[in-house]
Amino acid sequence: MTVIDSHCHLDDKQFSDDREETIARARAAGVEGMLAIGSGDGPPDLEAAIRLADRYPFISATVGVHPHDASKATPETLQSLRRLAAHPKVVAVGELGLDYHYDFSPRDAQRLVFAAQLAIAREASLPVVIHTREAWDDTLALLREHWDGPGVLHCFTGGPKQARQALDLGFHLAFGGVITFPKAESTRESARLTPLDRLLVETDCPYLAPVPHRGQRNEPAFILETVKYLAMVQGVTAEEVSGATTRNFHTLFPRRG
Ligand SMILES: [Zn+2]
Ligand SMILES: [Zn+2]
Repeated sequence: MTVIDSHCHLDDKQFSDDREETIARARAAGVEGMLAIGSGDGPPDLEAAIRLADRYPFISATVGVHPHDASKATPETLQSLRRLAAHPKVVAVGELGLDYHYDFSPRDAQRLVFAAQLAIAREASLPVVIHTREAWDDTLALLREHWDGPGVLHCFTGGPKQARQALDLGFHLAFGGVITFPKAESTRESARLTPLDRLLVETDCPYLAPVPHRGQRNEPAFILETVKYLAMVQGVTAEEVSGATTRNFHTLFPRRG
């Protein structure tokens, strides 16, 4: 069984001592591809994921400003994003969106930088990787107003009503370790109603390790636990989940160049 981790923060400091080994463990476990998310520590460095993708043929990259870092974005940041979006290993803009849980950046700055990046993604004909936390209504409103292209709601933790709204907008839903958590019943219901052809899996490592690794540093090799769990939730085999999510990944994030 092979699988693709559609969302990992391989540049994170938590991997500083064993990044090579972590990537090797992932490959040995059957993780044939990884999408490195490029939001890093925020502007001015926007190339965290590109640096990794340039070194490994099976790693692709995103560029984007995380909502946490929205207040660090300047007109130069957006200019750099436009330029980096043309890099051959970049397959999406992200992660972008709204996070009203932490409110690390003022909400009006988050909304502005979200909308600006949607425009950049459209110009570059790239899909988007959306992060949303405790900001569902505003996220949906901004997407309805500014976006009609492909994308994924990453680490989806919403309930069935939100899942249907996202699917109606044409989005894929990516599920991570959270679906293995005992209290995540409404997220599991969302996973259950997501058609196989709209499903992605991710780790969001180093965060949110699935059971039985919960509480540890997460890494791409652990994604197999999420695949198995998702298969149980959907009532299909793990091979069907890995096959479908791999196909969906290639459809949503076609390679360039
Ligand atoms: Zn996120
Ligand atoms: Zn992330």
